[in-house]
Amino acid sequence: MTTKKGIAILGSTGSIGTQALEVIEANPETFDLQVLTANNNADLLIEQAKKYTPNTVVIGDESQFERVKNELWEHDIHVYCGDRALEQVVDSSEIEIVLTAIVGYAGLKPTLAAIRAKKNIALANKETLVVAGELITKEALQNGVNIYPVDSEHSAIFQCLSGEFQNPIEKIYLTASGGPFRGFNAERLATVTKDQALNHPCWEMGAKITVDSATMMNKGLEVIEAKWLFNLKPEQIDVIVHPQSVVHSLVQFEDGSMKAQMGLPDMRLPIQYALTFPQRLKTDFPRFNFMDYPTLTFEKPDLTTFRNLQLAYDALEAGGTMACALNAANEVAVEAFLNDKIHFTDIARINEKTMNAVQNILTPSLEDYIAVDEEARKIALKLI
Ligand code: NAD
Ligand code: MG
Repeated sequence: MTTKKGIAILGSTGSIGTQALEVIEANPETFDLQVLTANNNADLLIEQAKKYTPNTVVIGDESQFERVKNELWEHDIHVYCGDRALEQVVDSSEIEIVLTAIVGYAGLKPTLAAIRAKKNIALANKETLVVAGELITKEALQNGVNIYPVDSEHSAIFQCLSGEFQNPIEKIYLTASGGPFRGFNAERLATVTKDQALNHPCWEMGAKITVDSATMMNKGLEVIEAKWLFNLKPEQIDVIVHPQSVVHSLVQFEDGSMKAQMGLPDMRLPIQYALTFPQRLKTDFPRFNFMDYPTLTFEKPDLTTFRNLQLAYDALEAGGTMACALNAANEVAVEAFLNDKIHFTDIARINEKTMNAVQNILTPSLEDYIAVDEEARKIALKLI
């Protein structure tokens, strides 16, 4: 007899969350959906809850609580609201794995709460590892919890490491599409618009990560994410631009052999793998055809024009709370960019200035991370 796997999706109304629901819907014998949460998209949350009938939902925005509750009471679904509920809701014994698909720093506390509730994590919310990777990986170890990567590059590395438990990694190559502005020089980059930045060539994603991909901050965040997931030194993590987004990343072992994981860009695959590891479930996703991609190309990233990637390496080198500060500045700057308050190239400028202005705490506690996040946000806001 097989038992179904109880799942909580934190951030079910986003790009990752909705694709995770597709995976769950296609495999009703495998998954048992327990929890859905959303920040303020109450309409979609209600629709999802009626369709997938989880045990519990959480709406972040308290002003919409009554409406969500009224819509769902006759469906026998528990409804809660606010940040505290997000931390408490993962505690249920029915939940085996928590998919963290919240965007940004807001994912930190719920992820930590899920780890402390001894739930395995399918981690999409990379910012949590960027902000507090040391604390999160330590707590995961202490609580006997696994963190399965959802990010496609890290899922690729994870898949390449299967069966290689005894073999140390020499280095990894994270592939990057290069985003919509690949090949641009500083002059051209200074004139790009929000619409251009939001138009990613390979992936359809939430607005924040789409802008991060255009500035290369996303790859910088992924370098830091990789350090914590795979216990690597910064010099073991290389980035290679690969515009076709077919090779999702590579591992090089100590004998010089390299393993890559490939496929069409489709986030449902890494989402599903994180939820079903070590099993692979049959899918009807479109298959890769070599003849559609007769040429796969690779280039060096331009760390001078795309400053954010260099800043991520600098933050790793500095250690402590520097990556937390970089993440906070970036969240403030990206939001300002999306609200037409700053230019595209101001994002990296604000990030760098914030890093230079903030104090770095080398052995931080959770409270230190929270304080540095707050301080960096204040500094970044003043720079806008
Ligand atoms: P999104 O903006 O589409 O969705 C974000 C989700 O988080 C929504 O459900 C929203 O309601 C919820 N949310 C937002 N702010 C919140 C808050 N303050 N409190 C509680 N919930 C909140 O984002 P996305 O593209 O799905 O990305 C989610 C995470 O996954 C990000 O960390 C991103 O970097 C990562 N990721 C995304 C992709 C992708 O293809 N979209 C790929 C790799 C990694
Ligand atoms: Mg990625």
